[in-house]
Amino acid sequence: MMRAISFLYECSHPKMIPKQNQINQSMSNSLIKKTLLYCSSFFLVFIAVLAIELLPVQFAKATALYNRVMKRDVRCSNCSQLFPDGTSTHELAYRGEGILPKQTLTALRKLERTGKLVRVQDKDYYYTATMNYSAPLLLPKAAGFLDLLGQRYAQKCADRSLSYVPFKITSMTRSIESVQALQQENKVAIKRSPHLKGKTMDISYTAFSGQQAQLHAFISALSELRQEKKCFVKYEESTGCLHITVR
Ligand SMILES: [Zn+2]
Repeated sequence: MMRAISFLYECSHPKMIPKQNQINQSMSNSLIKKTLLYCSSFFLVFIAVLAIELLPVQFAKATALYNRVMKRDVRCSNCSQLFPDGTSTHELAYRGEGILPKQTLTALRKLERTGKLVRVQDKDYYYTATMNYSAPLLLPKAAGFLDLLGQRYAQKCADRSLSYVPFKITSMTRSIESVQALQQENKVAIKRSPHLKGKTMDISYTAFSGQQAQLHAFISALSELRQEKKCFVKYEESTGCLHITVR
């Protein structure tokens, strides 16, 4: 009798159990979808924050590399008139301050530990090249100058509705040994280099390759700071750099 009732019930509700399974399956799928959506949203936000933090410098590096490969030209046509300061002029900046030349880069790094020199690291305003003949170390005053230059250049870009392109620092403080090694490769390098004393740096103008408008804005900012007696600058066409000593 009971079997007959059960048989009749199942016949009259043939899809109840499968339907319940479908509902459960559907809820489970929905939960998985929501979880995936939350995870992917979180991941995208994380990537966006990372990109905002790193993008300007990484983009500038990639663009500079691309332009170098493509051999896109860059001109610093009036730089020899704007930036004529020779070595003896740069030496004037070291009359009252500067470090004594050190024999090795290791000795320079010791000055970092004592706080005499500070390490210059990539920022939104600028980035540093791999340096074989110098250490990315400067006196605090010279490191502060880089920020001032970045601010002034950023303002020029804003005034001219240009996107900001970070500038590239190719050399900072050298040791006596690294100057000797550099002289083998670079005829411009001199024995009594201002780079030995902590307030001199090289900024590549060729890294602006393909971004002539930004280079003009940068030159304008640097020229203003020179006229305000904040630095001496030498245009070095053979190395594609602007050789700068902070006053
Ligand atoms: Zn230099």
